[in-house]
Amino acid sequence: MNSLIIANWKCNPATLKEAQELFSEIKENIINKDIVICPPSIFLPSLICDGINFGAQNCFWKESGAYTGEVSPQMIKSIGCKYVIIGHSERRTIFNESNDEIKSKIKQAKKAGLIPIVCIGESKNQNTFEIIEEQIKDIEKDIILAYEPLWAIGTGENASIDKVREVREYLKDRKVLYGGSVNSQNAKDYLEIADGLLIGGASLNAKEFIKISNILCDI
Ligand code: PEP
Repeated sequence: MNSLIIANWKCNPATLKEAQELFSEIKENIINKDIVICPPSIFLPSLICDGINFGAQNCFWKESGAYTGEVSPQMIKSIGCKYVIIGHSERRTIFNESNDEIKSKIKQAKKAGLIPIVCIGESKNQNTFEIIEEQIKDIEKDIILAYEPLWAIGTGENASIDKVREVREYLKDRKVLYGGSVNSQNAKDYLEIADGLLIGGASLNAKEFIKISNILCDI
């Protein structure tokens, strides 16, 4: 797998017009095509186009049925997405998603033919490897993991290069991305160790995201 740069727009921007403007600036200037844009699901059908990979930020664990408000992996696949982020720490903490629920989502996503990008990582006072073991238990190896320590997400703090290397080595037979306050200044260092990056805040700034993505062309 080539290194992947994933843009997680989270619940941004607030309007379709802004989402279209952000995407069109990225699309026109991107050289490296190993990127995945994950906008809010509601904007996906208006943005999806040939030549760029798209993903959803979450999915449900059933294919269809009486589950008001949910979006299934089969629906996500049917509009042209290739990937889905599962178990982002914001979903684990704000929406109380458990490891079991995350496992069910992974299973359904794979059944639908999506590639799950599963977020793992510890909070400040937790042991990294104990938490990772709990989070990857019974999860098959044919998915992408994103190591994102909670204290590094959207804070401007980063995991040290040594820490990411340690995690990378611990999970040596898996694909592991790094996420946590990545920007165009530090992206290259992480790209030399990890299999790619998961980018939140910096992916909402088209120029910054293009700079980060195109670094891959120089490595
Ligand atoms: C994320 O949303 O997964 C993330 C890593 O955010 P940020 O890049 O803003 O820290």
